[in-house]
Amino acid sequence: MKINPTKQTYDQLLRAYEHMNRELFENKLPSCLITLQREYGAYGYYYPARFASDTDLKISTDEIALNPQYFREEGRKDREVTSTLVHEMVHLWQHHFGKPGRTRYHNKQWSEKMKTVGLHPSNIGEPGGAEVGDQMSHYIVTDGPFAKAYEKLKESGFALEWMEYPQHIIKLVQSGALAADQVDQFIKDGEDYTSLDMGLVAKALDLDEDDDRPIRVQVNKQQ
Ligand SMILES: [Zn+2]
Repeated sequence: MKINPTKQTYDQLLRAYEHMNRELFENKLPSCLITLQREYGAYGYYYPARFASDTDLKISTDEIALNPQYFREEGRKDREVTSTLVHEMVHLWQHHFGKPGRTRYHNKQWSEKMKTVGLHPSNIGEPGGAEVGDQMSHYIVTDGPFAKAYEKLKESGFALEWMEYPQHIIKLVQSGALAADQVDQFIKDGEDYTSLDMGLVAKALDLDEDDDRPIRVQVNKQQ
């Protein structure tokens, strides 16, 4: 594999943005600057006119930030990461073509636009949650516009290559204590070490006998 992580990451993110702009927003959204950020507890965020051109300060562009920390958390895959991108694109749409609420607030107009692109707003990220508010997530509507647009994107070869994993997971895989194809299940099972070779684990993590297992923190993710 030829390794060029910056290009491999940003080419794909730009490709997803342009594809979703065409499929879900009639290609009307202006371009923006996508960044990778680790704002704690946030899958992503949108910030209007965050950057100005150095050659002409009158020209500005918006920021859409995605948090790589959560690209693979809680069973998330490229599809869920792309849905976060589209969630932020709805904020961007509203800033340019609608009427945003006060900062952080996801208002009724935003909520309705989300539904038209096939993402159902929900503060708990699943059916039954509030559809407006400060803390907001969404879930993907089965066979909705986003779901269909994502299938096309995937069929065209879209995939994110570089995933941030907790440091101890990477060490466990590199040491052979945990098979690469068991990582998802291992995380899903709440990091069940019982079936692993503890000698390899101790070596990989450089553990003393009385070290505790790494602690995972649960936070309510916002977008
Ligand atoms: Zn949001």
